Amino acid sequence: MKETFLGVDVCTDTYEQLAAKLIEDINHNRKSFIVAINPEKIMKAQEDERLRELLNKATYQIPDGIGVILASIIKGGKIRSRVTGIDMMLRLCKEAAIHGKKIFLYGAKPGVAEEAKKKLEERFPGIQIVGTMHGYEKDENVVKEAINKSDADILFVALGSPTQEYWIVKHMHSLVPKVYQGVGGSFDVVSGRLKRAPLFFQKLGLEWFYRLIKEPWRWKRQLVLPKFLIKAIRE
Ligand code: UDP
Repeated sequence: MKETFLGVDVCTDTYEQLAAKLIEDINHNRKSFIVAINPEKIMKAQEDERLRELLNKATYQIPDGIGVILASIIKGGKIRSRVTGIDMMLRLCKEAAIHGKKIFLYGAKPGVAEEAKKKLEERFPGIQIVGTMHGYEKDENVVKEAINKSDADILFVALGSPTQEYWIVKHMHSLVPKVYQGVGGSFDVVSGRLKRAPLFFQKLGLEWFYRLIKEPWRWKRQLVLPKFLIKAIRE
């Protein structure tokens, strides 16, 4: 099931439902692509038709961002909790460890993906992370060869948005992995280099507020939330 906000689709599935579908996709040799949706991306897509098409091309659009939840409530939809990119990634790691699926980490600064790999191995015993590659390799063929050689089932791409999404759509059909997720700065967080908001803020959906205090120069970017809500109500 999907709901549409200003022309952008968002899945109503929970972490559990998505994780089950993704493992099924791997087992049935189906390629799938997960993209995190937030008000910033929806607003960008209003002026950028190519981006809107790209977001709608994904198999699963997850409601990352409290703005999408509010819009769903206002419009009488069913989405009531966030599915964040990083938590979806961690959930998928957990399921992959249980089901013996192999993972490749592509992106972030040199060394970060290796650190993230170590942290994930400590956290999910039995996890198979079969390869890593930093996000500054210019030769696409070097990247693709490393991924295909690893024979991974799941590819996490951390190049920032929307670069990572364009990269996935361009290459997923000539790559071995089945499940693709663009994860932004998640390797920086998983490796421990970047701190996430405390659980208290996360639970209340106030991660944006925490970031506003820590990085006040972001306030302009955050104006997009009220603008998005007004537009969504008028839709
Ligand atoms: N990055 C990369 N290659 C590039 C540009 C960026 O691997 O050419 C990485 C960067 O090191 C960081 C991530 O992409 O780990 C971007 O994270 P950000 O939080 O900016 O993601 P967004 O907010 O765009 O989802």
